[in-house]
Amino acid sequence: LIKKPLLQELLRIVGPENVLSTPEAMAYASKDMATSVLPKMPALVLLVHTREELIRATKACLEHGQALVVRGAGTGKSGGATPDADCVVIDISKLNRIIAIHKAGLLAELEPGVILSDFQRAVDQEGLFYPPDPASVAMCTIGGNVAENAGGPSTFKYGSTREYLLGGQAILGTGEVVDFGKRCMKGVAGYDLASLLCGSEGTLAVFCSFIVRLLPKPKDRALALFLFAKDEDALDATQAVFAGGFRPRSMEYIDSTCLEALLALGFKAIGEEACSALMIECDASVIGAAVLELKSIAHLMEQWPKSRAILAEGAARDEIFTMRKSLSEACSKYLGHKLSEDIAVPLSAIAEFGRWFKAQEQKGLKCGLFGHAGDGNLHVQIMFKSAAHQSAAEALRHQVLLQVLKKQGTLSAEHGIGLQKKDYLALEQSKALIELQKRIKSAFDPHGLLNPGKIFAS
Ligand SMILES: Cc1cc2nc3c(=O)[nH]c(=O)nc-3n(C[C@H](O)[C@H](O)[C@H](O)COP(=O)(O)OP(=O)(O)OC[C@H]3O[C@@H](n4cnc5c(N)ncnc54)[C@H](O)[C@@H]3O)c2cc1C
Repeated sequence: LIKKPLLQELLRIVGPENVLSTPEAMAYASKDMATSVLPKMPALVLLVHTREELIRATKACLEHGQALVVRGAGTGKSGGATPDADCVVIDISKLNRIIAIHKAGLLAELEPGVILSDFQRAVDQEGLFYPPDPASVAMCTIGGNVAENAGGPSTFKYGSTREYLLGGQAILGTGEVVDFGKRCMKGVAGYDLASLLCGSEGTLAVFCSFIVRLLPKPKDRALALFLFAKDEDALDATQAVFAGGFRPRSMEYIDSTCLEALLALGFKAIGEEACSALMIECDASVIGAAVLELKSIAHLMEQWPKSRAILAEGAARDEIFTMRKSLSEACSKYLGHKLSEDIAVPLSAIAEFGRWFKAQEQKGLKCGLFGHAGDGNLHVQIMFKSAAHQSAAEALRHQVLLQVLKKQGTLSAEHGIGLQKKDYLALEQSKALIELQKRIKSAFDPHGLLNPGKIFAS
């Protein structure tokens, strides 16, 4: 499938042991690990170990008109790393050096294959803080995070990956290697290409390295779980937190169905009587200030008479964080099948959307909601027991997306459009806006060789 001269050049660049075409390698590269899109066989899989190899291999593909997809850890949830048929997959997971952490400059330079949790640990050891915290932190790469503009619970206070990407080096679809962005905390010279490239889902450029902003590490953190008697109480309570003038580090919602799924998975921390929960974490630069803020929030929650607060410390705190990270798995296992969506609605519409969604439960379908309530970003879970309910679940998923748009929300808050939602983009954005984005894509990648088939319906 791949032209012989190109194959020979790639063999020279990365060495025969890093040009893979075994059934195992092809199967692994044919699909993201957590996306329900059909796998597509790549033409070949390349492992690159150095920035020079990445640049030379990418340029060789481009010069031969060969389409390619870069793969980080393959944890994406929109099919971004699933290759269009006959693409070369370039695996950057071995390109994983933290080049430097500049403590005085509050920035770091790193390669795209660095695993996020490794980077966070290294930064933490320097007394610094890199906030983006997707639940896949122990698996996903910085390259994938930048390409998807990944976020997590702390996005509420600190913003997502885009807020931390200052610049880096990238290969365009023309083969040009460009240094984009800056090392300064401010700067408005030219267009803000770092912001544009962040979230571009591998369709505009191949990233070779990044410069990211760091923060001083908060000295104090405090976590509490607020339990409520009704699903909607916890969503209404988010409004009270905003109105009270608080900005916690995170504010995570878990509804009754998702709590049941967690109990079924063996998490007992919450107890069986709770109906919904808000997991709120505060942090501060002064010791004691985080607990103080949490106590003020607890005071606000007293307006829901049946609510109760658990201040989580030590092992209980670790269990609650693990529980939060296990929600997606718990919902997958609860009835055996699920469809999930990663939507956001305006903050003022979050409780109303939650009520609407829960009212859609029907025979054979359970509706669960969890997610980053502080950002209006809810992970919608449609759970079902047997394949017989698949088409009803898909019909409901369709209704969910329409309802989100009706509420002026967005189809994807953090997982990207990729393959999974490209047919829906035209429902959210006008034709003129989509055409403008396609022209931007052409400027970066005139021959359409970088991650083809993603974001825009053909
Ligand atoms: C259990 C689980 C929990 C998750 N939780 C969250 C969450 O809380 N928040 C969140 O935002 N996401 C979450 N995700 C989704 C996923 O982890 C993120 O999108 C992550 O950023 C993907 O990183 P990756 O290394 O796996 O990238 P991949 O899946 O390998 O790739 C994703 C995209 O990035 C592109 N890409 C990767 N590297 C480069 C590069 N060097 N140059 C150009 N393009 C590149 C790929 O081509 C692809 O389009 C979760 C996923 C799982 C499985």
